[in-house]
Amino acid sequence: MTQEVLSDGSRGTRCPTALVSGSSQGIGFETARILAERGIRVIVSARDADRGTAAAARLGQPFVRLDVTDPDSVRAAAQWIEQKYGVLDILVNNAGVLGAPDLLPSATPVDVARQTFETNVLGVISVTNAMLPLLRRSVAGRIVNVSSELGSMERMLDRDAPTWALHDTAYNASKAALNMLTVSYAKELWDTPVKVNAMDPGWCATAINNFQGYRTAEQGASEAVRLATLGPDGPTASFSQEQGPLPW
Ligand code: NAP
Repeated sequence: MTQEVLSDGSRGTRCPTALVSGSSQGIGFETARILAERGIRVIVSARDADRGTAAAARLGQPFVRLDVTDPDSVRAAAQWIEQKYGVLDILVNNAGVLGAPDLLPSATPVDVARQTFETNVLGVISVTNAMLPLLRRSVAGRIVNVSSELGSMERMLDRDAPTWALHDTAYNASKAALNMLTVSYAKELWDTPVKVNAMDPGWCATAINNFQGYRTAEQGASEAVRLATLGPDGPTASFSQEQGPLPW
C-alpha cells in the first residue's frame, strides 16, 4: 500500500498500480504474477488481446492491449490507465525481441537491426514518455528496464566471459542503448521520487531463446520485482542482476 495525500487532501493508503509490457508470457508474466502476489494491482499488457486477456484472467488482474511499436496503441493504453486509475506507480519495460543470433556486425541486415531497435529501444521511449505523466503523480514511481548482460560494454569486452562469443549485434546494441536510456531518464528524473533502473534476468528458458536458458522465468523476474518495489533509499541509474551489480 502507498501512503499519500489523497485527492480530498486527507492522508490515506491505496493499492499501487503497475504496468508490465509484454506480460502474457515469460519473464513479463512472472514479474506480473509476483507483483500481484505482493498486493500490487498489475495491468497485464500484450499485443495479442486473446493471449493477454487469458494471462490477466489467470492472475485476476486487469488487461490492456499494448503494442510498444504502435503509437496509437501506446496512447490508448496511457489514456485507459489515466481514466481508470489516474496514476501509475510502476512501469516495467519488459517487451523485447531478439535480432538475429550469431550474426556478426558486418553480416547484420539493416532491417533486422531496425526491427530490433523498434521494439527494444524506440518502444521503451514511446511507452515511457506516454506513462511518465502518470508516474510523476506517484509518491514512489519506479521504472524498470529489462535489459541484458549482452548490453554491457565491459562484459562484452571480457575475453574470458562466456558472453565474448555471443554475437547478436542488433540485440546486443539495442540493450546497450536501453542501458543509456536508463541513465538518461534517471538523470532527467533525478530530483523526483521516480527511480529508473536496468536489470538483467540471466539466461532464462523462455520463448525468446526456444526455452534454452538454464534459469526459470520466475528466477529471471526476481530482480525486476526487487527494482520495481525499491524503497525511497534505493538506487536510481543502476544496472544489476540477481547476484549483484553489473558493469555498464
Ligand atoms: P518472451 O517470452 O519471448 O517474452 C517477450 C515478450 O515481449 C512477449 O510477451 C512478446 O509478446 C513481447 N513483445 C515483443 N514485441 C512486442 C511489442 N511490439 N509490443 C508488446 N509486446 C511485445 O521472452 P522473455 O525472455 O520473457 O523476454 C522478456 C525480456 O527479457 C526481453 O526484453 C528480453 O530481451 C529480456 N531478456 C531475456 C533473457 C532470457 O534469457 N530469456 C535474457 C536477458 C534479457 P508476443 O508474445 O506478442 O511476441
